[in-house]
Amino acid sequence: MAEVTIKTKWVLWTAWLIIFPTGLYYSYQFDPPAVSSVWIPVCFILLGIIIICLPFEVDNSSIFIIHWVNLAAFLSFGLFFEMVLMQIFLIPLLIRLDITRKTLYRYALYSSVFLISSVCAAAIYYSFNFSVTEDSLLTVTVGGSLYLLILVALNHIYLYGFNRLMNNEYPFFSNDALLDRIITLLSMPYGLALYFLLDQIGIAAVIYLGLPYIALAAVLKLYNSSKQLKNDLVRAGEIGHQLAAKLKIEEVLDLFINKLSVLMPVDCAYILDTEINEDYLILLRRIENGELKSNNLTPVRKGEGITGKVWRTGESVLFNSKIEWTEEAEGYMPDGAESLLSVPIKRDKKMVAVLLVASGKKHAYRSHIVQIVELLSSYFAVAIENARNHQRAIVKSERCGLTGLYNYRYFDEQLHIEFDRMMNGHLRQLSLILIDIDHFKQVNDTFGHQSGNDLLQSMAGLLVDIAGDKGVLARYGGEEFVLMMGNTSKEEALTVAEIIRTKVEDTSFKTHYGLNHNARDIEIDMTVSIGVSSAPEDTDSAINLLRNADRALFTGAKQKGRNRVAEFSN
Ligand code: GH3
Ligand code: MG
Ligand code: MG
Repeated sequence: MAEVTIKTKWVLWTAWLIIFPTGLYYSYQFDPPAVSSVWIPVCFILLGIIIICLPFEVDNSSIFIIHWVNLAAFLSFGLFFEMVLMQIFLIPLLIRLDITRKTLYRYALYSSVFLISSVCAAAIYYSFNFSVTEDSLLTVTVGGSLYLLILVALNHIYLYGFNRLMNNEYPFFSNDALLDRIITLLSMPYGLALYFLLDQIGIAAVIYLGLPYIALAAVLKLYNSSKQLKNDLVRAGEIGHQLAAKLKIEEVLDLFINKLSVLMPVDCAYILDTEINEDYLILLRRIENGELKSNNLTPVRKGEGITGKVWRTGESVLFNSKIEWTEEAEGYMPDGAESLLSVPIKRDKKMVAVLLVASGKKHAYRSHIVQIVELLSSYFAVAIENARNHQRAIVKSERCGLTGLYNYRYFDEQLHIEFDRMMNGHLRQLSLILIDIDHFKQVNDTFGHQSGNDLLQSMAGLLVDIAGDKGVLARYGGEEFVLMMGNTSKEEALTVAEIIRTKVEDTSFKTHYGLNHNARDIEIDMTVSIGVSSAPEDTDSAINLLRNADRALFTGAKQKGRNRVAEFSN
């Protein structure tokens, strides 16, 4: 909806300042109410307020069926009485519709619109020679219908005109709007009945007719909320299944937040981890107005602020408006937030994270949504754990346990993938560097297998430093390593190989020798022999690329005295 400018607000308030007193003054002069007891307006007001508090919910929009009360008020006590009543009803109505300081102008707008509509509807009613306190059923029915029709039509026409002026959409013919009008008109007999009964039995009529109406509205409200609960539970179950099917942590996080927005209004959402640090909540995900934002917010301490307290107590909290949470909040809170819901995310009864969602609307979250979100959060916690396990399993199956480098299986897969990419023209060249430690058996025999392992780890670290993100580095076998580099010529690969060879030659590798308290630090010098081969110049198959590197390593480096780099040549 387009923002209403300050100028428009001024115009609306100025118009209201003129219309409100003038309308009330002249309607009183013209049509003073003949109210016999103060209890009559009191009962009318109470009835109206209760009706406004129990609107009919249809497809997420609320329908306030209040006009029948106004109709009876007008027919019994005239224009002034009806006008004042409507002005009073406007206040709870706007509170229900979440009026804020920014939208306070709506009071001026609606108040003026209702006053003018009432005056016009009454003027037309009187112009047809109908009067207040008619007693013929036919006259009352025709007059009452005319009055109500004009009142409802004028209200909509004025609001439509205003919204058109503001370039806002006004759903004049939407299903909701039509339903609203039809129900209002259908409530007319109720208004007429109240009018006749008031005449017959006085104030008790408000109770006789009001009570069953209120009871029906209350039952419908209960029915609606249990239906809503059932729908939400079904949806939560479906979301749980979808979460369980995701195998990546990022995907689980995104799906969870997306699906929350389907269930309820979510302007901002935060997921905070409780497991990384004992004292502070660590932000994992921050979504504000549909955008993923950086996680660089100051961490929240356990027990402090809204999420910190949810962490400490393990209990969910729900706030309907900003005034309710302002004092409790600490640190960063999103701008414009009104409704807040924070829920502990638990797995096996153990807290693993805290969720905070916020909406700019007041009363955005129904109370049953807390249980739904708690349920969904437990699905989420299990899905995250599954995804983590899956990720761990993948890492395990791809990596060597000793050095942390990729293993032969992963390397072999990648070699074929990259080779195919080269054959398909996505890569210009593919080069391999195969590295074998010289006389490693002797190292093992002299200093023991454990020292050998230490040295293999150090060697892996050295290679990682040099390889960086140049390509895929893997532990090819026992004391052999391989580096595959895409878009790298043989010359470039030979240069990298030479850097590796000299770096190993210049490094003193540290390890321990001996058992327990006799163990001492020792330094060992090592050398490597390296074979280099490239495609497409040396071969057109992945297997041969590897074999060629191996052959270069054996015949060109090992056989020629070790500690050297050799390239494959036909
Ligand atoms: P060359 O210069 O000809 O390569 O001599 P080498 O001794 O390195 O060659 P060889 O292939 O005969 O020996 C490799 C040795 O590497 C055999 C084995 O003891 C050692 N080795 C292989 N895997 C491991 C391992 O995981 N840990 C340790 N400590 N040693 C290993
Ligand atoms: Mg070897
Ligand atoms: Mg060796």
